[in-house]
Amino acid sequence: MKRRSDNYTGVEPNRGFHVTHYDLDFDYIVGPNRLNATATLTLTTTEALHHLTLDVVEGLAVRRVESSISRGIKRFRQSGGKLRISLHDDLPAHTEFTLTIRYGGNPRPRRTAWGELGWEELDNGALTANQPNGAPTWFPCNDTPDEKATYTFNVRTDRDYVAVTNTTAHPMPTYLATVQVGQFQRVELGRNVVAWLPGAQPGDLNKQQAMLDYFETVFGPYPFENYQVVVHEEALEIPLEAQGLSIFGINHLRRNERLIAHELAHQWFGNSLGIGHWRDIWLNEGFACYAEWLWADHAGQMPIDDSVRTHYNKLTPMRFTLADPGPRDMFDDRVYKRGAITLHALRRSVGDPVFFNTVRDYVAANADGIVDTQTLIDAFARNGADAAQVTGILDAWVQHAELPECP
Ligand SMILES: [Zn+2]
Repeated sequence: MKRRSDNYTGVEPNRGFHVTHYDLDFDYIVGPNRLNATATLTLTTTEALHHLTLDVVEGLAVRRVESSISRGIKRFRQSGGKLRISLHDDLPAHTEFTLTIRYGGNPRPRRTAWGELGWEELDNGALTANQPNGAPTWFPCNDTPDEKATYTFNVRTDRDYVAVTNTTAHPMPTYLATVQVGQFQRVELGRNVVAWLPGAQPGDLNKQQAMLDYFETVFGPYPFENYQVVVHEEALEIPLEAQGLSIFGINHLRRNERLIAHELAHQWFGNSLGIGHWRDIWLNEGFACYAEWLWADHAGQMPIDDSVRTHYNKLTPMRFTLADPGPRDMFDDRVYKRGAITLHALRRSVGDPVFFNTVRDYVAANADGIVDTQTLIDAFARNGADAAQVTGILDAWVQHAELPECP
């Protein structure tokens, strides 16, 4: 069990239980940005439990907490970003129970080292952007990437507005849960691919299904029930991935094919294959960035060696440690580009057949799970690569700061 706070987000661990399911039932009024919510969490204790904590911001007022256990809740209070719940009786280990939490308010993003995160009111609608620790701005949760649960959403909002959510039977970490509210039109882009557009033409999203088909040939089957793409009518600084869903601004529909490929690739890398610690973020972003270059090569836009060389030459400062980059550099461009070039170095070393077999095996063997760099090394070893060679490459590119030769 983790004993200390997350050294990237500062979130203190919530001890003694797993959340296995979140049922989020919302009434959201767009104009005043008003949320009235009932969250029903299914939990299983991992040890005897007399009180427990969940992450939720104080800006959301918790009005009532009920439980399925017999004598139920003794008291609850909110402080320090936590909902602190005391039970009347000790719950033995391995007990399953539910907590029904009624709360509401005007949800707002929280200020973090990575900008404002969480629930954000837009000019005409709302979005959530959680990564890494924005989820507690809109629901009480166990906000850590190594805990996955299933989710159901039921969101009622204003007439003429749509609330797009990502109900899923596949386990999902809190940072990938999402609600997107806007005046969207539903456009089918292919089998199981749906775009929610602000009345605009799909633009580069016309290639979404072709990208998905191509990525299935290199990474293996698409890992979730369906894929939704939400496009807000205003410009957004960056697009963002959620599970089974990606979020774009209107500005991303033209000349941003690489971002569309990048967010789609996160469905395999980051979402199905999660990371347990933010220090391993290179596994998400390295693969997603490499997928951009694979698509550009496949689509005849730029050979992969040109992408690698171009971005290798821009890696400054050259010294950078991919393993555990630290919270300040968690989303540094070098996490993405050096991460992607690391994968290319592995590919050039083991050859295309072993590399792509390994990637598909790594994806299949760890679907809905948690991975780290060792998981990738193990996959290469299983697929006929020389383990010492692979470890040597990852050691140079990931564990050490010095920049190796361009592969
Ligand atoms: Zn990304």
